[in-house]
Amino acid sequence: MNKHFDVIVIGVGSMGAAACYWLSKQGISVLGIEQFDIPHDQGSHAGQSRIIRKAYFEHPDYVPLLHRAYQNWASLERETGAQLYFETGLLYAGRADHELIKGTRLAAELHQIKLDNIARGQHSKARNFLMPLDYEQWFEPQAGFLTPERAILSFAQESIRQGATLLTRQRVHTWKKQHGEYHVETSAGIFTAKKLVVCGGAWSGHLVPSLNAKLKVTRQVIVWVNPTKWDDFTIDHFPCWLIADEKIPGALYGFPIVPAGKLGGPLGLKVAYHYPGLPSDPDHVDRSHTQDEVAILLHAVKKFIPNAFGEVLSVKTCLYTYSPDEHFIIDTHPDDDDLIIAAGFSGHGFKFASVVGEILGELATTGKTIQPIDFLRLKRFNNY
Ligand SMILES: Cc1cc2nc3c(=O)[nH]c(=O)nc-3n(C[C@H](O)[C@H](O)[C@H](O)COP(=O)(O)OP(=O)(O)OC[C@H]3O[C@@H](n4cnc5c(N)ncnc54)[C@H](O)[C@@H]3O)c2cc1C
Repeated sequence: MNKHFDVIVIGVGSMGAAACYWLSKQGISVLGIEQFDIPHDQGSHAGQSRIIRKAYFEHPDYVPLLHRAYQNWASLERETGAQLYFETGLLYAGRADHELIKGTRLAAELHQIKLDNIARGQHSKARNFLMPLDYEQWFEPQAGFLTPERAILSFAQESIRQGATLLTRQRVHTWKKQHGEYHVETSAGIFTAKKLVVCGGAWSGHLVPSLNAKLKVTRQVIVWVNPTKWDDFTIDHFPCWLIADEKIPGALYGFPIVPAGKLGGPLGLKVAYHYPGLPSDPDHVDRSHTQDEVAILLHAVKKFIPNAFGEVLSVKTCLYTYSPDEHFIIDTHPDDDDLIIAAGFSGHGFKFASVVGEILGELATTGKTIQPIDFLRLKRFNNY
């Protein structure tokens, strides 16, 4: 087996699989190294569905990247024939002065994103929600969810078809730069490359020690419930949703029931909580859950979607990797232009994987990108 490549990508998860795809598409010789299978359920990408939306309350500067991400997801669907995006629409709800509502409206106004103000129950897909009377409700029709496992598999398969080498179940133990070349050590041997792209997800701090103090890994609990009226919650009748309950920090969110037999994964209606869970070591994650972790999710269902309340069918855990300001870190390393980093996706990165792959590919091949990522660069942190 060839041991020398133009680029080595460490971690073939969400961002790494997309980077391998983009690089191999340009004819670059690329090796992707993944410690588990592709995909797998030990990191940040498992669990059947990930919301994608454009009215980005986290920061309006993400919107241009989202436009590109939507285009790139559509290209991948055309190339592979696999449906990766399901346009269900998305309901935002909360008090007018909540960050979620203010930020969503701001991003929509600044970037002319279609966002409909809906009064209580006025939208057919909103009829199963029961909102407090003082909540605003906004509906983004061109939002929905992506299928992470299928998307990563599609990127990986296309990468191999385009000539990439992907190693699975091989952990990168160490890497170093010597005489202008990276030497990456795994149990399958040492591989060398001119450029190194590190997309280690929850393990990024282990792979790039100077990032370690900046990243916090938490475990997040997700439930799937059995709604009393199942048919009301399928993708034709129910949207994705994001609700700010002023009594608890963070945001509650969820999905419609995904079509049976299409995507695998747990059955039922998925509900999650976007707020830091318990800190975790990615190599020793306690995958059990506490009653409180599940109770908050059931509270959301009972309060806002009472018709969906039913027995818990499944509980899973997944990892978030927080950066200090909850914005992504995408950059070349300040001390080494040949080292490219994508980390700290802070629980909202998957929807961007298709554009992040392109950006990482551009940074590895030309040292720059036309995508507006200045706000995501390391220089925003004082000691970098
Ligand atoms: C519960 C939950 C819900 C979420 N919901 C959403 C959502 O609705 N919308 C959204 O956009 N985002 C969402 N996210 C966030 C999104 O899934 C993540 O931001 C994204 O998956 C991070 O991608 P990544 O490539 O950094 O990590 P991963 O996809 O985990 O990939 C990192 C890869 O690196 C590999 N790796 C690490 N170290 C090594 C090593 N030494 N050797 C070899 N391989 C290694 C890992 O095994 C892994 O495969 C959610 C996340 C969670 C956990």
